[in-house]
Amino acid sequence: MSVPAPLPPINAAPVSAAKRLAYVLRHFRLVYPNAPDVAIGYADSQPAITVTDGAGTFFQQNTPYPAEPNYRDWAGQRIPFFFDHQAEAPLLTLSAGRAAINADIISAAFYLLSGWQEYFLDTRDRHGRFPYAASVQKQYGFVALPVVNYYFDVLKTAVEHVSGQRLQTRRWAGAAPFAAFITHDIDNLRSGWKAPAKAALKQGQLLRFGQQLWRHLTQPDAWDNLETVADTVASYGARSTFFMLLERRPGVDGTPNADYAITPALRQRLQLLKQQGSEICLHGSIGTAADVAHLGREVKILQPDTQGLRFHYLRWEPRSTPNLIDAAECFRYDSTLGFAEHFGFRNSYCHPFFPFNFATGEAHTFLEIPLNVMDATLHHPNYLQLQPQDIMPALQPMLAEVERFVGVATVLWHNDHFDPANTVTGPRQFAEIMGYLRPRGAAFLTGSQIMAEL
Ligand SMILES: [Zn+2]
Repeated sequence: MSVPAPLPPINAAPVSAAKRLAYVLRHFRLVYPNAPDVAIGYADSQPAITVTDGAGTFFQQNTPYPAEPNYRDWAGQRIPFFFDHQAEAPLLTLSAGRAAINADIISAAFYLLSGWQEYFLDTRDRHGRFPYAASVQKQYGFVALPVVNYYFDVLKTAVEHVSGQRLQTRRWAGAAPFAAFITHDIDNLRSGWKAPAKAALKQGQLLRFGQQLWRHLTQPDAWDNLETVADTVASYGARSTFFMLLERRPGVDGTPNADYAITPALRQRLQLLKQQGSEICLHGSIGTAADVAHLGREVKILQPDTQGLRFHYLRWEPRSTPNLIDAAECFRYDSTLGFAEHFGFRNSYCHPFFPFNFATGEAHTFLEIPLNVMDATLHHPNYLQLQPQDIMPALQPMLAEVERFVGVATVLWHNDHFDPANTVTGPRQFAEIMGYLRPRGAAFLTGSQIMAEL
């Protein structure tokens, strides 16, 4: 293992109240496209909806964490409100033609949606990632609540009061109550035989080992299953989005990349999957999240299938990765932002969003479709250790939140987790998730289809 590279320097412009307001309201209007043009702001501009300024000089400094939140009940949930210093005041004060929001939900929404904590904290894990353990979501226990959507719900109530109009939440694919984005990172296509062969060898069962080896040499691997994955997903009326890993050599830090190469035969199979409705995207290999030239080389290999991106091992350096996605000039969306260690909402938001560019104070041009649940998160030595029967009960409250706010539920199920030998986070558990989503009316969309709706 080599020494981790130093973090890129902070390169952030001070974020004025006007910039926070513009960034947050842009996203509010994406969720409520018919919201009338009611003036919303801080008291100095005397808008119809006044938000108490509770941020002080926080956004002029480089401090990762705000003061601890105040908790209030909203829509039947106990919600943390950051930048809320008037615990005794009601959240909303409504009067004729006016509304006052007595907690700074604009600053709180901006703080969470922009990923401020990740940008300004220096802590990273052994994969160079912002650790869940260092997050406010972990500290205050709200990783499975899309808190920003609750803040927007407060704002929606104020806008409806002032305007006298009902706000409609954006719907997906016409009228679906929420959307689901079913994705597969393809790290391995050739290693399904290894674990059973090793087990046979360890138990001294040489005949069984020989059979495994012979099978490996003469038959397709159990993980060489892209068509099975696509067919399984299609059986629920859904389409797969595949993220292909192009690098076989391990990263310079020794982290493994793909166990397969993109051969002409594999390209042909991907072409066929595409024709059948799947989407093919890039799974940026180790190193690409920190090196635009490296990312650019992989873009060239996979072109034209480079609308969407997810980094291998969910590698993401907040101070540089978003900039290099923009610089690559081909990606329209990314879907890396989830915590590997826990399912839920890394930016406390259950809709796609445009990540904040700290250098310019504007939004990036690519869309982030945040990742909510990955198979390995649910059962892994470093992550959770849920038993198979505990998986759906654990996920249901989070999925219900996505449905409540007509959001997008992004699921990552690796192709090797479709191996029937995996009985913990395998095909059966995937079927349970799909069996939950489908009858609830989820619109199953690929990344490009989600883009096309915005
Ligand atoms: Zn991967």
